[in-house]
Amino acid sequence: MFSRFKTEGILLNSFDSGESDRFFIVYTADFGKIRVFAKSIRKSSSKLRFGANNFFLNSIEFIEGKKKRTLTDIQTINNYKRIRQSLYSSALALKACEDLDILTKEEEKDDGLWSLIKDFLSKLDESKNDKEAFSLYLKFIWPLFSLLGYEPDLNSCLSCNGEISLAEKIYFSAGEGGVVGSCCVDSDNQKRATDKREIDLIKKMIKGGLEEIDSGTKENIKSISEDYIKHLSSR
Ligand SMILES: [Zn+2]
Repeated sequence: MFSRFKTEGILLNSFDSGESDRFFIVYTADFGKIRVFAKSIRKSSSKLRFGANNFFLNSIEFIEGKKKRTLTDIQTINNYKRIRQSLYSSALALKACEDLDILTKEEEKDDGLWSLIKDFLSKLDESKNDKEAFSLYLKFIWPLFSLLGYEPDLNSCLSCNGEISLAEKIYFSAGEGGVVGSCCVDSDNQKRATDKREIDLIKKMIKGGLEEIDSGTKENIKSISEDYIKHLSSR
């Protein structure tokens, strides 16, 4: 008994199987993240191999068997030409796909996540320069944490619940999922130094707000998000 399905999906990752087969990890509109088996796709005669590239938006068809889903057709809807023309934007698109893959479970349809990755890629495709591209990545990753239920507590010190002042040096604790003030910080070097201004920017990004951010700030906010991804994926 086989059922046939068609949906839109973004390729997050793939890995080889056997001599000429491959598995794809696809984030789809209708099924969330799924694993699809592509038989003989690495043979030059395979028509499936066109469009089978990471971060491309495709229309895919597959049949669902007892043990696996098998790809029967793949048509590219958007190959994000302008992203591919920029090494920097390509790296960010691949990174976003990797983050989404690392942080999500399979088989959970989620319209919010689907819109987030799709919008990120279309905006990245239209971005004018690397600076804008990087801001777009940050505006992808922070709402992603939030949609997955990992929104950090950024309003007060996690330890004493004390208010965070603008002048104070504060720390982001990936392990505890929030900020710790200088009131309570210990010698634990697992925490990354930040300040209220950066934390306020992160809060705006979580809400999808557009902000001009200077490069130094962006790098630190990216490091904070990297710490958090590392922590979440190691649990
Ligand atoms: Zn405190």
